[in-house]
Amino acid sequence: MFTDSHCHLNFPELVENLDDILAQMRTAQVHRALVIGTTLEEFDAVHRLAVTYPHLWATVGVHPDNEGVREPTLEDLVTRSQRPRVVGIGETGLDYYRMGERSHADMAWQRERFRTHIRAARQTQLPLVIHTRSASADTLAILREEGEDGAAGSAGGVFHCFTETREVARAALDLGFYISFSGILTFKNAADLREVARMVPLDRLLIETDSPYLAPVPHRGKTNNPAYVPYVAAEVARLHETTPEAVAAATDANFERLFNGVLS
Ligand SMILES: [Zn+2]
Ligand SMILES: [Zn+2]
Repeated sequence: MFTDSHCHLNFPELVENLDDILAQMRTAQVHRALVIGTTLEEFDAVHRLAVTYPHLWATVGVHPDNEGVREPTLEDLVTRSQRPRVVGIGETGLDYYRMGERSHADMAWQRERFRTHIRAARQTQLPLVIHTRSASADTLAILREEGEDGAAGSAGGVFHCFTETREVARAALDLGFYISFSGILTFKNAADLREVARMVPLDRLLIETDSPYLAPVPHRGKTNNPAYVPYVAAEVARLHETTPEAVAAATDANFERLFNGVLS
């Protein structure tokens, strides 16, 4: 049985076909998915999925790319995180890919938002779901500055939809974080990323779809959904010279260890 550790099932293109997707998940043996919050405005919709369906779970967070949305306070995150079936904080992090004409200093708001999430995660001892793009040095530095070093008191978490280098993966693992791979791993031009996936130990690795985006081969370019996460598992299995069943078992166990709220 497979777990999709990161999806956006509340997005219109997915929620409109929810019954069909849930049926596809059953057929594909995807027995669990984590629905990730990206704004406070959508949190109730994310949370409703998790309280309605026993195999869906939720996180609370405001994505670094989201501007013009409600800025979360520490209390906003902490109170929502204590609702039933909320098992993580995020997605949060840094994304300088879309900064355009703006300078590093102009992105201070994003770093502040990230720090607020880290503080909420440490206070609640819930894991962080980290999004980082073109900003890995600052992402790692801020985690360290906020005390995330893998020692007691750390919230830990996962670097989701990983596309960074081997060095960044090593640093994230050293801080006690897990690494999650998406369908990008199956893309023809992702040879470097496959080398990174090969070095991430199977007991620290998660799989995800990040659906509706990034459908794995052979569905690349179509709308993604959690039923496609076994394609990611198959690629990890090939890289680690093991079976998809072994990857399913390992990543399921990792998910439960990290998001241990799903066990209570
Ligand atoms: Zn993301
Ligand atoms: Zn996402």
